[in-house]
Amino acid sequence: MEIIVTHVNADFDSLASLVAARFLYPQAGLVFPGSCEKNVREYLETINHGLSLYSIRQIDLNGIKRVIIVDTNSSDRIEGFDSIFKSQPVIHIYDHHPGQDPKISPEVSVIKDRGATITILLDLIREKGISITPALATLFLLGIYEETGSFTFPTTTEFDLSAAAYLFSQQADLKTVNRFLAQTLSAIQLEVMADLIKSRRIHFLAHGGNVMLLKSFKDEYVSDLAVVIHKIMDMAGPQAVLAMVRMKDRTCVVGRSRVPEIDVGRILLPLGGGGHSSAAAATIKNINLKEVENKIIDSLDNRTEQSYANIKDLMEERLPYAIQELIKKTAETADQASYPCFVVGGLVRDILLGKTSFDLDIVVEGEGIDFARLLAEKVGGEVKKFAKFKTAVVTFPNGFNLDVATARTEHYPHPGALPEVKASSIREDLFRRDFTINALAIQINAAHYGDLIDFFGGREDLAKGLIRALHPDSFRDDPTRIFRVIRFKKRFGFEIEDGTESLMGKALADGMLDRITNQRIREELIQILSEGQPYLALEALQNRGILVRLHPELALSDNFGFLFHQIHDLLFHFRLIIGEEEIEPWLIYFLAMTEDMDFIHTEKFVSDLKFTRRQKNKILTARKRSRQIVELLTTSPEDLTPASIYRELQLVSTEALILVLARISLLPDKNLSEEAKKRVATYLVHLNRMKVMISGEDLKQMGLPPGPDYTQIMEAIFFARLDGKVLTKADELDYVKTYFR
Ligand code: ATP
Repeated sequence: MEIIVTHVNADFDSLASLVAARFLYPQAGLVFPGSCEKNVREYLETINHGLSLYSIRQIDLNGIKRVIIVDTNSSDRIEGFDSIFKSQPVIHIYDHHPGQDPKISPEVSVIKDRGATITILLDLIREKGISITPALATLFLLGIYEETGSFTFPTTTEFDLSAAAYLFSQQADLKTVNRFLAQTLSAIQLEVMADLIKSRRIHFLAHGGNVMLLKSFKDEYVSDLAVVIHKIMDMAGPQAVLAMVRMKDRTCVVGRSRVPEIDVGRILLPLGGGGHSSAAAATIKNINLKEVENKIIDSLDNRTEQSYANIKDLMEERLPYAIQELIKKTAETADQASYPCFVVGGLVRDILLGKTSFDLDIVVEGEGIDFARLLAEKVGGEVKKFAKFKTAVVTFPNGFNLDVATARTEHYPHPGALPEVKASSIREDLFRRDFTINALAIQINAAHYGDLIDFFGGREDLAKGLIRALHPDSFRDDPTRIFRVIRFKKRFGFEIEDGTESLMGKALADGMLDRITNQRIREELIQILSEGQPYLALEALQNRGILVRLHPELALSDNFGFLFHQIHDLLFHFRLIIGEEEIEPWLIYFLAMTEDMDFIHTEKFVSDLKFTRRQKNKILTARKRSRQIVELLTTSPEDLTPASIYRELQLVSTEALILVLARISLLPDKNLSEEAKKRVATYLVHLNRMKVMISGEDLKQMGLPPGPDYTQIMEAIFFARLDGKVLTKADELDYVKTYFR
């Protein structure tokens, strides 16, 4: 069995071609798509040719040996393409649309540059000496008239004209042609159509695909522009069309798309338009046609590859109220100053992951620093500018710091160096980020509040649990991303996308780690050690040979997993009793991570990483004293007085004490570790906060001459207090009287 098919939304050229092809393939069934243009339907209802037209559902698709396709060569436009072509039939194509669909490999392909497909088929029929009835001549003429815009479209050829002349000679009825064509396009519509086709140009999209751009200028109003665009889509067969027609004081833009990747609704959004992904429109006043075109091109270049979503509801549901308020204030300022403004980075990722986030980063398209100044003025806050990086920090009256950046691109003079910054758009700003899941933004201007900006498929990667670099040079541009990829992988339990994994492997093999400054390594280490469960990422760094590259002696001890878990549990305990701020958890983990290094190496490592003096002191003192403290707390602890505990413990940081306790907790004697934990807790909550009540003034009034003795006296009182020998101020005064007078 063989069939002749044509495209959905059939017009007169497709109907005429379908019927004409039957003369060439007399055995074939005619498959007419259910959908056709209104005037074609009316024609079929009015004029009876005795044709048997079948829909795809009416025929048995098994055993189709040959398929003749007319007036299209695109599989997307054939109803039921996949089912028809399942049995891999022989394909013949007759068409006047340029291009070749890779899904179809025809045995015969007659694609010619003609105004209408029927012109091609009519030639073949005439070659065979077949004559046609006046009714069919009329149908064929309808096809030519419609498809060439009554011979006005630039696609019209001399072959169409001579085909029409022949059809006239076969008694084609122009009255019938007029009757059905008149319903399609008016004279002005035909004129616009001719203009639009003449102006056509193809705009190629960065990530593949193309859009046909059309424009026309008319002094009068043109009704039903959509019908005109529909015709052009049909004739020229592009993936998508954006047509701009200037009429009097406004420009109407109509967009149509055949492919899901090109979302015309989204493209016209920045122009105030609306609609669906396949059909949309916008009307723009007060700007000229060229400006409209520029805006469309901007929008195409920026937005077409991303899928559109609005996540306003998620923001309301998942962001802390205080952050929502900050965003509102920021958005108001942005709207007043006409800056497109976006929330970017980790917060967007976390909202989509269903996590609460407080880390607000703002990017504006335009002058970020100027915007920060306006925002600070509005909220009565302060602004700190970093002109070189075009960034600023706005401190709100409640102390909250908001980072504001200018949408920017970065140029890396050499791998691992600090970027040079120049102003650019949000797309480029996102493109310079590390991974797709971190390259998401949410627009916050009122008109687009909650629009998710996702050029690189970050949302899909979040759903799939994949970490993916944005481009092949990512790890070379900034090798610290090696640390980041591992950190995020472990934090979210994600996989590293295969391509990204090999890029990372290559960067490591090429020695890119050596290009990172020690300060940046320190910051990355601190970030990793600040994770909830840092041992997972550390283990991954060790397994990939990264730790040993940081320092040849850096190796995790055998039971480091237990130790890290202990620290994690103790942190929970101690945070409850002494509060969050006083502990820097990363420092405890750093001490644990370097436990097996000897003192000299630790000292060198800490100096190389350029820790601050305070951090360095904490780390090295802990290293020197921890062992002694473990001993003190574990050998005959019953003899310990509060004062003797204090004397030893006050020499080291709280972080060091937590590490000491973690070590003790791993000893087999559980009573011992519980006792030790209590002692350290007493020290932290109680002893460490004790103060002497009397002052130097009191001593003076007691007649003691001021001098170095005062310090000694105060210390003695303090220790007496620690051991519970004095409780009140009166006790302290008595104590002085007894021992120092
Ligand atoms: P976290 O939850 O750990 O804070 P984050 O994604 O917010 O994660 P930050 O280090 O605060 O991480 O960075 C904020 C954003 O800046 C990131 O989401 C990412 O878009 C971008 N970014 C940070 N560091 C880099 C880098 N080295 N290369 C590229 N982009 C980066």
